[in-house]
Amino acid sequence: MSDSIKYNLDESRLPRFWYNIAADLPTPAPPVLHPGTLAPVGPDDLAPLFPMSLILQEVAAEREIAIPEPVRDVYRQWRPSPLFRARRLERALDTPARIYYKWEGVSPAGSHKPNTAVPQAFYNREAGVTNISTETGAGQWGSSLAFAGALFGINVTVYMVRVSYDQKPYRRALMETYGARCVASPSMETASGRAVLERNANHPGSLGIAISEAVEVAAQRDDTKYALGSVLNHVLLHQTVIGIEAMEQMAMAGDDPDIVVGCTGGGSNFAGIAFPFLGAQLRGGRKRRIVAVEPAACPSLTRGRYAYDFGDTGHLTPLTKMHTLGSTFTPPGFHAGGLRYHGMAPLVSHLKELGLIEARAYQQLAVFEAGVQFARAEGILPAPEANHAVRAVIDEALECKKQGTSRVILFNLCGHGHFDMQAYIDYFAGKLKDLAYEESELAMALAGLPSVPA
Ligand SMILES: *Cc1c(COP(=O)(O)O)cnc(C)c1O
Repeated sequence: MSDSIKYNLDESRLPRFWYNIAADLPTPAPPVLHPGTLAPVGPDDLAPLFPMSLILQEVAAEREIAIPEPVRDVYRQWRPSPLFRARRLERALDTPARIYYKWEGVSPAGSHKPNTAVPQAFYNREAGVTNISTETGAGQWGSSLAFAGALFGINVTVYMVRVSYDQKPYRRALMETYGARCVASPSMETASGRAVLERNANHPGSLGIAISEAVEVAAQRDDTKYALGSVLNHVLLHQTVIGIEAMEQMAMAGDDPDIVVGCTGGGSNFAGIAFPFLGAQLRGGRKRRIVAVEPAACPSLTRGRYAYDFGDTGHLTPLTKMHTLGSTFTPPGFHAGGLRYHGMAPLVSHLKELGLIEARAYQQLAVFEAGVQFARAEGILPAPEANHAVRAVIDEALECKKQGTSRVILFNLCGHGHFDMQAYIDYFAGKLKDLAYEESELAMALAGLPSVPA
């Protein structure tokens, strides 16, 4: 417990530093490669896309990275976020387990994503950048970056996956309220988008395609940089405020988690709660079970290959070694839009390979059942993504009951589902189905992985 003191919280219990797990890894994660030369990329290769301060965080080796004061000023609006014990859920489950959750839905955009959107916008403004392009699936990331752009006076363009653009007008309206421009992807604005539309004028879009569009625009324009809401090291770094706060809050509650759980799309909210605990373990502290939970219809950690792959469909990004379903894999249209990405954060993938974390996958009906049970006990309506973590937590708590053992379970309740009510409507109407991807499509996407000699 004394370990969290190293993180140096201020008088209002807000962390002064982000925690960089790279400093404590037993072996470093494999390097990011240039897709043409297959040589490790250097900071200059990434300079067209990101400001240098973020590139340096991407490759940083020091354990603690100071959070700039202007970022802490914004964080103070909702941080430290509350940590609750789910006593009513415990009673409903009749479990001896003690369940705690860190509640990230209190941010203005309603999820953990502003934890990184705010510093990304700040560092871009410091570098004189006036425009940022990005992608969004369900709209959580787009609205978070739109919020941060409004705070720091940056024009934000969001390429939003077409199906979500059509199905989730409220998230789009929120982005526009914050002042962002929202474009349905694939669009006619980029060569990547036009290439997809030429083949299929009604293409529903995917995160991989939207990333290609946003990257293309940033690479071509001097006044524009790119921002990503998950996957990258610096994004995971910014999210560690969650776990740093949680370590201290758990100590204040006089408890210590045996199991730490988070859902995984690109891996950032999971890393945010898990890495500070894992770091304490890697520095000789106690061992905990760390569980990543993903959708069975887009199972990169449990079914993907650990291999070098592109981050986008148009193959404009560098190659990263990660658990991947293949960059051309298009997952079926299940409701947790934030978890529909073909790859997993390289750091999370590396930890999985090292056996330091567990992973499991669930179908969406079981996931929504858990979310509804949580809402009826605790009053908070989780995002469909968060329901994956809730499912795993309830299963662990029921296992405790079966075994007659008590465990302390902590999970990241990464966002609210107030913009996702159609998914709940469909669930109650019996219209939600468990969806499977085509094994042949997965095989094809994996066959298309770039060949990188070991
Ligand atoms: C985006 C999002 C996710 C998935 O992204 P990660 O980077 O894996 O956290 C999960 N939950 C919510 C609420 C999201 O908005």
